[in-house]
Amino acid sequence: MSSIVPSTEKSEIGQYDAALGNLESGSRHDLRVGISPDAPDESTTFDDANGAFGYVHSYETASRYDGPGLRVVLFVSGCLLRCSYCHNPDTWHLKDGTHIAARQVIDRLQGFSSALRSLGGGLTISGGEPMVQPRFTGRILAGAKSLGLHTAIETSGFLGDRIDEDYLSLLDLVLLDIKSSNPETYRRATGRDLAPTLRFTERLAAMGKPVWVRFTLVPGLSDEPENVEGIARFVAPMKNVEWVEVQPFHQLGAFKWKAMHLDYKHSDTLPPSPALKQRVLEQFRAAGCRAR
Ligand code: SF4
Repeated sequence: MSSIVPSTEKSEIGQYDAALGNLESGSRHDLRVGISPDAPDESTTFDDANGAFGYVHSYETASRYDGPGLRVVLFVSGCLLRCSYCHNPDTWHLKDGTHIAARQVIDRLQGFSSALRSLGGGLTISGGEPMVQPRFTGRILAGAKSLGLHTAIETSGFLGDRIDEDYLSLLDLVLLDIKSSNPETYRRATGRDLAPTLRFTERLAAMGKPVWVRFTLVPGLSDEPENVEGIARFVAPMKNVEWVEVQPFHQLGAFKWKAMHLDYKHSDTLPPSPALKQRVLEQFRAAGCRAR
């Protein structure tokens, strides 16, 4: 991608176009579908007006979970993976998101910025996948940086080849979802290849970019000891990996699959038991990772 040109000029987009939607706060667990039926398909590299506009699901204002300190978390639309346990399938398609201006996000963020700074937090862009709209999310990250905020994205890394060093320079932290170490399990879980994620992980390690690896523990899918061991051995030597976070599967997104008439394979999957989670944490720790 070409370099990101952050803009603080409202004149660039004029007054907010009446056709733009509202930037709605809410929760990642809200169901939002069919809001922008004319949006392009997310499988094409898409960035409206060099990232001046994009599609978002929602934002939360008080997360203590998605990076250090208190965070605003922006959930952007578009993802090319199809994780069988995805909690937010209503973020897969741009057409389900709200079309807004990057400037709207930055202006909204400005209102929270002094509180975020004083609480050691910042902005996390999650999704969906931030790299589906790299210029849009890059502009927002640049805006957050200009407000003095700590910045993070949560990503699968699958589209890591799409972003350049300028984009990475806007990031203080990457929350990197490594869903499996086994290419077959990864494909079964996501419908995609594992290799781009491993490549992106190694790139972040080579540049020393701080990373929190996130591993979703799904009983019957990702919980095999060899699978966990493979991730642990891969990331343990990487000094930039500050944490491995084991995230238990849950059913909070099940209602979305039903409402969207999608084939949900985990209706009968239970969250991992405390003993299973402990076993997985111990595997990561035994390999030398800081895990929680
Ligand atoms: S990468 Fe995230 S948003 Fe995309 S399908 Fe997987 S869990 Fe859902």
